[in-house]
Amino acid sequence: MLRDWYIARAKEKILARVEQHARELGIQFTAAKIVDNRYRWGSCTVNDSVNFNWRLIKAPMFVIDYVIIHELAHLIEANHTSRFWSIVRASTPTMEKAKAWLKEHGQVLEEEV
Ligand SMILES: [Zn+2]
Repeated sequence: MLRDWYIARAKEKILARVEQHARELGIQFTAAKIVDNRYRWGSCTVNDSVNFNWRLIKAPMFVIDYVIIHELAHLIEANHTSRFWSIVRASTPTMEKAKAWLKEHGQVLEEEV
């Protein structure tokens, strides 16, 4: 029951933020989905779609924004290069704080590349 409520909220809130950040960054994506993934907060696919763990809705807003921007940035830069991090940092002033929060809360963003 509570889980369904979280998933519904995640769809509403996170997907709206994805639209907003994509527009601000000028990034096109094909689809954004809320998924049930135990070990990953977010991921992206080769088809330019982005997925977010519904559990992310329990995180503070600055963390949600960081995860969204991180995945969207992968659509223009696939790897964790210095170019990638400068794109993310430019849109997420609280990046280091968000990374620390995610580290503390145990799940990873995506498979290490
Ligand atoms: Zn990444």
